[in-house]
Amino acid sequence: MTGNSNEPVRKRVTILGSTGSVGLSTLDVIGRNSGQYQVFALTANTNATLLAEQCRQYRPRFAVLCDEAAARQLRALLAGSELATEILVGPAGLNQVAAHADTDYVMAAIVGAAGLASALAAVEAGKRLLLANKEALVMSGSLFMQAVRTRQSTLLPIDSEHNAIFQSMANGAATHATGIRKILLTGSGGPLRQLPLAQMSQVTPDQACAHPNWSMGRKISVDSATMMNKGLEIIEAKWLFDLDVNQIEVVVHPQSIIHSMVDYIDGSIVAQLGNPDMRTPIAHGLAWPNRIDSGVSMLDMTAIGRLDFEPPDLQRFPCLRLAQEVARGAQSLAIAMNAANEVVVQAFLDELILFTDIPLIIESVLEQTDTDDALTMASILAIDNHARQRAVKAMQRKGVSVKSSRAGDVNA
Ligand code: NDP
Repeated sequence: MTGNSNEPVRKRVTILGSTGSVGLSTLDVIGRNSGQYQVFALTANTNATLLAEQCRQYRPRFAVLCDEAAARQLRALLAGSELATEILVGPAGLNQVAAHADTDYVMAAIVGAAGLASALAAVEAGKRLLLANKEALVMSGSLFMQAVRTRQSTLLPIDSEHNAIFQSMANGAATHATGIRKILLTGSGGPLRQLPLAQMSQVTPDQACAHPNWSMGRKISVDSATMMNKGLEIIEAKWLFDLDVNQIEVVVHPQSIIHSMVDYIDGSIVAQLGNPDMRTPIAHGLAWPNRIDSGVSMLDMTAIGRLDFEPPDLQRFPCLRLAQEVARGAQSLAIAMNAANEVVVQAFLDELILFTDIPLIIESVLEQTDTDDALTMASILAIDNHARQRAVKAMQRKGVSVKSSRAGDVNA
């Protein structure tokens, strides 16, 4: 509470990627808790129409669009609206609102490598960072975590599995928790877990995006269908919790009720359970170490009845196998895998390649990547760029015509 006015001090939140799936869930949680949080800045890539609606509803101080034409559209949509929202354009605008002196919390919910620079800008400015964008840690793990430590930024994992692990480590003991044997990273196995293998090559983008339990953006939905998502999460967990890769085990759990578990040396396994709804980890990240209402309904254990577990099938999910190998290798491999994955997933969504081409192209890019662990931001971006170009070339060799501007841009 403030001394003078008895008004609660509301935390000012910047949402990077407010028009996406995680962004919308974040706005929902903030809307339910408007006495404690207010929106400081909202950002999107091209979706001016939705950003304009969000500006009218949440009245942010800044709105950022990466695309210049979209920013012009937003200006036109908000003209004469009495809103004081300042409109910024381009990646520099993202960094500006992420690091702004007047923002308290930053939600990093841009998809892909495009979210790295702004997430890091928030860390460098010492903000509380709610990290949904797993690709940022996959690309720059060591450098990112070093910045978290030196800038004393508070990093709260929003990816549901990592949030579950964080909660299962006595809420905050994360990086210095002792007695951990391993963590069990759960994953549903996605929409193709039981599809006959012979039909995998015919999978359409809509089929791949039809996740049985979670409603998410299209890139992460395809990553869930290939289980590359779980592979990226292994690398994310390694950096977040300072674990050896051998301590991270993937368990397929089709119901998505247990969001991950920590296995301690005394035989205890601590898990976090809940309905599969991103508003739970988002509310946890906003309120930590307290709790707020997220709008998520209570878990009805008797209605669920049973929880199933099985080991992942690496023949069905070659992307998971690749990521497990990469997680044990040099950081440059993780950067290249992430970049190639972004390019080929977009090409698959654009119906330019088959679902089964995804791991083949990523593997060919990895084979051409040098191993390197001593990385600066410049070398990270260079490796990312090379891998994108190699992925495009690999697709061109297959006779696919890919516009590299669509598949290869990173805002950094
Ligand atoms: P969406 O695709 O739904 O949303 C992405 C957001 O990022 C949109 O606001 C989009 O703007 C913006 N964006 C896209 N490209 C760029 C760019 N080049 N520059 C700036 N902004 C950009 O993604 P999700 O919400 O599903 O995922 C966001 C992140 O959270 C991902 O890293 C994902 O892995 C992670 N995550 C998501 C979960 C989920 O349930 N969805 C669960 C756990 C983690 P526009 O609308 O204009 O395109």
